[in-house]
Amino acid sequence: MTRLNETHDPSARSWVASASEPGTDFPIQNLPFGVWRRRGDARPPTVGVAIGNQVLDVTACLMAGLLADGVVEPAAACANPSLNALMEMGRDAASALRRALFALLKAGSDAEGRTDLLAPMDEVETFLPAQVGDYTDFYASVHHATNVGSMFRPDNPLLPNYKWVPIGYHGRASSLVPSGTPVRRPHGQLKGPHDDAPVFGPSRSLDYECEVGFFVGAGNALGETIPIERAEDHVWGLCLVNDWSARDVQSWEYQPLGPFLAKNFGTTVAPWVVTLDALEPFRAPRFERAEGDPQPLPHLDSPADRERGGFAVTVEVWLRTERMRAAGEGPTRVSRGSLADMYWTPAQMLAHHASNGCNLQPGDLLASGTISGPTEESRGCMLERTWRGANPLTLPNGEQRKFIDDGDEVILRGWCEREGFARIGFGEAAGVVLPAG
Ligand code: MN
Repeated sequence: MTRLNETHDPSARSWVASASEPGTDFPIQNLPFGVWRRRGDARPPTVGVAIGNQVLDVTACLMAGLLADGVVEPAAACANPSLNALMEMGRDAASALRRALFALLKAGSDAEGRTDLLAPMDEVETFLPAQVGDYTDFYASVHHATNVGSMFRPDNPLLPNYKWVPIGYHGRASSLVPSGTPVRRPHGQLKGPHDDAPVFGPSRSLDYECEVGFFVGAGNALGETIPIERAEDHVWGLCLVNDWSARDVQSWEYQPLGPFLAKNFGTTVAPWVVTLDALEPFRAPRFERAEGDPQPLPHLDSPADRERGGFAVTVEVWLRTERMRAAGEGPTRVSRGSLADMYWTPAQMLAHHASNGCNLQPGDLLASGTISGPTEESRGCMLERTWRGANPLTLPNGEQRKFIDDGDEVILRGWCEREGFARIGFGEAAGVVLPAG
């Protein structure tokens, strides 16, 4: 089903001038949702929408009588410090609200010039978009899985289940942090390749993972499944996620049950959730299986998923070291990949997750796993980018990195571009690494 409508018209202009600046992540065609408040405001944060370099206060729009009866309910759900209530109403409610906000922000609307409904982004703080009950992390890039596998198991890089089942693990929701929160280098059990006994100390190979997460909207009851044909009804929107990882801890602890303390010391989540409606022009065919690869089992397959289950979201990792910051230098780009290169689509991951009757709940976060493509430049973590430190990166100022040092800031960015449509972006998921405590 194609859902292109007036909100995708590339010629649409907002009365918020910055929304029409070239290169903005937040033109009127995007309208991602997030949780925010003015810095210094003691009241609880609420749900807003990013527009240019401003945040639109949805609650203020409702109070001003600028939203019609049909969207009063979803707009009222925005008077909360999380998106959960709006997510729970499902995608149609959010679609209707997004269209109403589009009309309100369009040049010539009754709200034109109402700057009292806006707050400049550099005067607000943003929070986690949702109160996340459960966080699940997948491993959906076959390039990432093959690269990492070949480092740890050169003779057997890709395990036989990979091409049949979307591999994932249950992460930890309590350590999800909003963008801008510093992340402390963790301690853990570390073991060198020739050491008999591990030592307990600060991780020596701290890494990021460039991922896209998707939030669950309407959930399913325990014991009920979500057929792949309806999976996208439950995918509320996408956002950037950095799944910080301590590789030395990971390589020692991960067998036989998978990641544990190497992953749950902090996961950075971007403030803005881009709806599937906004992403409609950037749908892509599902990753094409190589000849000889199995086709997905029927419960993970549908014609629609084959044709348009993917999302052409370009993701980038930028790095800014302490020295670069001190010298007033901007971040440098480390990699660029695409969510369209993933072996499994969000619909497949979500349908798989619920295929045993596991109940997904509004605000749950499912993340893609490291987004890596076929080229070196598209590898979405340092483990792959430097091949476990064998090929260190040289930064423009001459500094070298095998992994992430104390004081380094890692910034994820994401955007979509396609001829005939307005470019939209995801904003940033950023975090500075603090020395181990
Ligand atoms: Mn991950």
